Amino acid sequence: MATQINHFIGGKLVEGKSGRFSPVFNPSTGEQSGNCSLATEAEVGEAVANAQEAFPGWAGTSPITRARVMFKFKELVEANIDDLAALLSSEHGKVHSDAKGSIIRGLEVVEFACGIPHLLKGEFSDNVSSGIDMYSMRKPLGVVAGITPFNFPAMVPMWMFAVAIACGNTFILKPSEKDPSLPMRLAELMLEAGAPAGVLNVINGDKVAVDTLLDDERVKAISFVGSTPIAKYVYSRAAAAGKRVQAMGGAKNHMLIMPDADMDKAADALIGAGYGSAGERCMAISVAVAVGDAGDQLVERLAPRVRNLKVGPSAADGDMGPLVTAEHLAKVKGYVDLGVEEGADLVVDGRDLTLQGYENGYYMGGCLFDNVKTDMRIYKEEIFGPVLSVVRADDFNQAIEMVDKHEFGNGTSIFTQNGDVARAFSNNVEVGMVGVNVPIPVPLAFHSFGGWKASAFGDHNQHGPEGVRFYTKVKTVTSRWPNSIKAGAEFVMPTHK
Ligand code: NAD
Repeated sequence: MATQINHFIGGKLVEGKSGRFSPVFNPSTGEQSGNCSLATEAEVGEAVANAQEAFPGWAGTSPITRARVMFKFKELVEANIDDLAALLSSEHGKVHSDAKGSIIRGLEVVEFACGIPHLLKGEFSDNVSSGIDMYSMRKPLGVVAGITPFNFPAMVPMWMFAVAIACGNTFILKPSEKDPSLPMRLAELMLEAGAPAGVLNVINGDKVAVDTLLDDERVKAISFVGSTPIAKYVYSRAAAAGKRVQAMGGAKNHMLIMPDADMDKAADALIGAGYGSAGERCMAISVAVAVGDAGDQLVERLAPRVRNLKVGPSAADGDMGPLVTAEHLAKVKGYVDLGVEEGADLVVDGRDLTLQGYENGYYMGGCLFDNVKTDMRIYKEEIFGPVLSVVRADDFNQAIEMVDKHEFGNGTSIFTQNGDVARAFSNNVEVGMVGVNVPIPVPLAFHSFGGWKASAFGDHNQHGPEGVRFYTKVKTVTSRWPNSIKAGAEFVMPTHK
């Protein structure tokens, strides 16, 4: 029986009243498990009103009080992590260990947010002029909203709300309608951790809910993570409405394999980075650029590894689980068909995989293309599935040019033993997150996450110091006390005395 997934507003579960739903499936079995309520404008308005009411009280608490809520939330998530990971997998399809890992990466941002008293310390200048002191402080913005993708239903919401709420804002989360149950549990745990009602609200929905948040003038900032077309749309509409916006988009991450790289290690790295989470990661490596004579050695090592990937239901905890929906599976398989039509060599074909006992699940095996060319659509477009393309480059310059010319600039990596080459690559490549002999260079919580080019729009990255800047505005006070005030009006521009 499909259960109805509602909203979490003002500290309570609130039944969706729109009569509009989006089905939620268990990707491992193909069974429908839920009906996600799609909010009306009025329902979103109710969530915003609750968040707005909660704001002055929450903003007025001391940072240490807010940090203690975060510490408690962290304890609760840790105490429940196996159940949370199972819930995540049941709607997303990630294998259990990977689901758990993604929750832990989200929790690291909560740990970062536990340091908010330190992060919000302002600046102070004593005696900037005779008897005058000047100080700056960071103030929360008010009600802020986060719109998140299906592929990280725990981690990406925590990237956003942990920092936003620790800074003193109140938050509306609009999770993906494909896997909304885990974000709802996180909101319940935040309440249990001591966040007052209205501090974290979850509104489920589609374009109607998103547009309402983008336009509502009570919402001061929008953080978005999802595909590039929607990121561009969210960025321009919210910015036009006068809001602060950060909108992270899609990716096509290249890994350069130089001829001097350890080919076995490079192949192992590519397997984890290309096929982990069935390739449904914005930092997955989807293009291997084999430089010089690295190509044949690499493909020789990759092919058996791809054929041997253990694909299974999320509970079996193999190398990868199913894709998120039947629709997404069809899209990814469609790209593999397209690659064959475009003339790339399909070295490993995982399209026909079926699993006994799970015939209706959304599975496919890993696919490996060789001799992919840069004018092919399978090279240019994001596939977001277990499909790795090997592109051959004559030399380092041709390889880096490929990365630079690509529309997306989220992550990239180089495998080499040559420090000069690695340094030239890291310093010059037109990409926001770079790995040297590290295939998935996701910045830790105390650094900031964000790509370049069509992978991110807006001025600040996610979490870390950039997150604190995004969710706060600076106020600077110039202060003088009566003893130092001279009698009489001053008409000239004040200068330092
Ligand atoms: P998506 O763009 O389809 O959806 C993201 C969010 O936008 C969801 O909450 C969805 O409900 C909403 N949305 C969808 N269509 C909309 C519309 N027409 N108007 C307004 N809102 C709409 O993305 P997805 O399929 O859920 O997630 C996968 C994508 O996210 C991939 O492109 C991946 O690269 C990207 N991603 C990027 C990052 C990053 O940090 N750069 C991280 C994770 C995922």
